[in-house]
Amino acid sequence: MTPTVGAAPAMPVTGAVLEAARAAARDAALPAYIYDLAHLRAHLARIRSGLAHAGPRLSLLHAVKANPDAGLVRTIARHVDGLEVASGGELAHVLAVAPGAGLAFGGPGKTDGELAAALDASVDRFHAESLRELRRLDRLARQRGTTADVLLRCNIPLDGSSAGPEGAALVMGGTPSPFGMDPETADQAAALIADLAAIRFVGVHAHLASGLGPTACAATAQSILSWAEAFAARHGLALEEVNVGGGMSVDYARPEATFDWDEYGRLMAQVLDRHPGIRVRIEPGRAVSAYSGWYATRVLDLKRSHGSWFAVCAGGTHHLRTPAAKGHSQPLAVVPAASGRADAEVADEPVTFVGQLCTPKDLLAADVPVESLAVGDLVVFGMAGAYAHNISHTGFLMHPEPTVVHVGE
Ligand SMILES: *Cc1c(COP(=O)(O)O)cnc(C)c1O
Repeated sequence: MTPTVGAAPAMPVTGAVLEAARAAARDAALPAYIYDLAHLRAHLARIRSGLAHAGPRLSLLHAVKANPDAGLVRTIARHVDGLEVASGGELAHVLAVAPGAGLAFGGPGKTDGELAAALDASVDRFHAESLRELRRLDRLARQRGTTADVLLRCNIPLDGSSAGPEGAALVMGGTPSPFGMDPETADQAAALIADLAAIRFVGVHAHLASGLGPTACAATAQSILSWAEAFAARHGLALEEVNVGGGMSVDYARPEATFDWDEYGRLMAQVLDRHPGIRVRIEPGRAVSAYSGWYATRVLDLKRSHGSWFAVCAGGTHHLRTPAAKGHSQPLAVVPAASGRADAEVADEPVTFVGQLCTPKDLLAADVPVESLAVGDLVVFGMAGAYAHNISHTGFLMHPEPTVVHVGE
């Protein structure tokens, strides 16, 4: 195996998480996901205070697909203006764990059953993905004697300036994609809506990129708003609201470099000034919860192979798929076993951390310089609060599921 990913940065671990990891080790409950809800609340408070610069016309939704963990969703729901769900499963889950939260229903391939459930749950906003979906939503709403408030999800070109100096990790706008409607289809949707009695046009939705810093994010919002205004004006539609999506950057190589919500809020204040009267929504996922989750495990075996050290950890990428999915080293902290620590086998050498799966892809972090490491030591991976547990193929190799612990409730 030749790991090709970058070295993992050291990860700060909160006291509560450390304590929970040690307790889980004593109780034979590792590997464990540990969510620090106090850490999450503090993070949400920083996000809100940054967004406050832009005033009440900017609202914050959270994309539940980042992590449906009930404790996280419940905590987040108290600090945001609504939740974006992208499946019938997420919808039912959120109705159960965070009743009363404002809801937007997005995502491709919504079934009739899902649309009907969303109508019955009085979801506030539907993000329409296609002409066919609009027609089906209209029929289902009419059958129920209700109407659906709709944002047309549009796949529009981002003008070059939107990329900004920070660049985008993943641009999904203006290129062929299964998401939303291209400008030509959006024009057809505008014409169609005039004939759909149960569809109320509220505005436009566009989630076009991810991994953007504040400048590029605000520039993207500006492009979307300008496009949406021209679109609505061309079709004589009243534009009330524009959802500019999520995608705020999370840098796994620099855990301390969180998205600058203050800067973003100030830039968005200028964007909103240029578009009076329009409500703007954002719906970040990763940048909200990534930092408040840790995946704690322990070293089962240490071996040297052709000159390189490998630490085989309990669990692996079937629990924490993030490093495999993104091709990075997950930031980590080594915590010496509390008691009976064997003499360290490795001292001041780089170690590659892998899991228990019989595949070279089960790579958690490559060539991490460690001071000392012994079998039994705890390894606590950070930035595991989003797109981590819930995107992992936990059935692979039939190892046990990780336990889940909440601290700071
Ligand atoms: C995934 C997704 C988001 C959240 O993206 P993040 O990168 O996690 O912020 C928001 N909106 C839509 C439509 C999405 O598909």
